[in-house]
Amino acid sequence: MVASLSHQLSGVRSVTEDCHTSHPSNPRSAVVVGASLAGLMSALTLARVGLQVTMLERSTRKSRAGAALPVMHGLLEQLTGRSAPTGANAVPSGAQAWSDVHAALRSAAQAETRISMRAPVRVTDSGQDHESAWVVTDDGECVHADLVVGADGHGSVVRRHVVPEAPEAHFSGYVIWLGLVDECDLQSPPWPSDLAILYEGDYCLNAYYLPGADGSTAPGQRRVGWGWYDAGRNDLLRASGAVIDDVVRRTLRAGDIPARTFEELAEEAQQMWPDPWREAIRLCIRRGEVIGTPIGEYLPPRIASGRVCLVGDAAHLPSPMTGSGFSASAQDALALAEAIDGDRSRNDVLGALRRYEATRLAPSRQLVQSGRQFSLSIAPRGAAQ
Ligand SMILES: Cc1cc2nc3c(=O)[nH]c(=O)nc-3n(C[C@H](O)[C@H](O)[C@H](O)COP(=O)(O)OP(=O)(O)OC[C@H]3O[C@@H](n4cnc5c(N)ncnc54)[C@H](O)[C@@H]3O)c2cc1C
Repeated sequence: MVASLSHQLSGVRSVTEDCHTSHPSNPRSAVVVGASLAGLMSALTLARVGLQVTMLERSTRKSRAGAALPVMHGLLEQLTGRSAPTGANAVPSGAQAWSDVHAALRSAAQAETRISMRAPVRVTDSGQDHESAWVVTDDGECVHADLVVGADGHGSVVRRHVVPEAPEAHFSGYVIWLGLVDECDLQSPPWPSDLAILYEGDYCLNAYYLPGADGSTAPGQRRVGWGWYDAGRNDLLRASGAVIDDVVRRTLRAGDIPARTFEELAEEAQQMWPDPWREAIRLCIRRGEVIGTPIGEYLPPRIASGRVCLVGDAAHLPSPMTGSGFSASAQDALALAEAIDGDRSRNDVLGALRRYEATRLAPSRQLVQSGRQFSLSIAPRGAAQ
């Protein structure tokens, strides 16, 4: 159940008070910035080891059309330490639609009494002293806790505090167009396997079957997702403000994509990709149900500083072609809780976050580096293209 307003506001200080004022808490507490997948998973693991968690999320929009995630078996049990629910709140394993995974994790967080969720709340800054860490919201509130977890994605504000000398993820020189349709809306016969990775010149298409909205995996009742890597539209990304100064600022929604670009994509799909993927792409274009996510990458020099740490895409941003950003985020959440739980004296947050970093920094760097090869193959001149 989402906690009451008074509970949600515990730990919030007024605009005029100094964030440096100490705020000892018992039980221990965490502020998690960002309530997407990495934030939800971290909140669940931290609640499992006894922390009171406040989540702050700037957005009320919940969609990432087409993106598919590999979900490990027993994920929710690992995160919560409890048997997974059945039915609508379960997190099914295997390839799943981003929106379904998000909905299931969000339900689990809402059912956890140690987690409170505030949205929309935009965090603008973070800080710490020897007693506590805090974030500042856009209306000037200071929200204190024993630790702050930045789960605020590729353009992380919390990263500016943890890595002030290198806070930005850099644009990799390509966009991924994404779409999702019901298989029953397509006429073409199904593809013989669940996943296709196709290359044509400088383009790459990942296309896949996902369970239908009712969880069905029977042919004809599934959904068809696709992601089309395209290094040829960087002018549009810059002109629309989706990329500014080689930093990814936002995803292009259908309304941002000019009719001419849709026409070109439909024509290119016709020439390049086989059915049923071609049909799925052209249908999404006709419906205007396509988004374009410019891809950035971030190789972290560190993922923790004192009482503040990073998880998920805020910590390490690999090319989506690695297919591993989600499982790395789950590993972050598990490692963070293990480090905190291992803090037997119950007051050495700094030592716990050092242990978290020691566990997760090297694998995170390895993951990002593994995606660079693909990025260089599709956009050899990077953002300069
Ligand atoms: C197109 C695409 C395809 C992908 N495909 C795969 C795949 O096949 N396999 C895989 O494993 N991974 C994939 N990933 C990566 C995977 O989705 C992420 O690694 C994973 O979901 C973790 O994301 P996150 O929660 O860290 O960040 P995000 O999903 O970016 O969430 C960050 C959250 O923080 C909020 N936020 C940001 N700033 C603030 C602020 N200042 N104040 C408050 N809230 C804030 C945002 O609104 C958002 O909700 C893909 C990613 C993309 C973009």
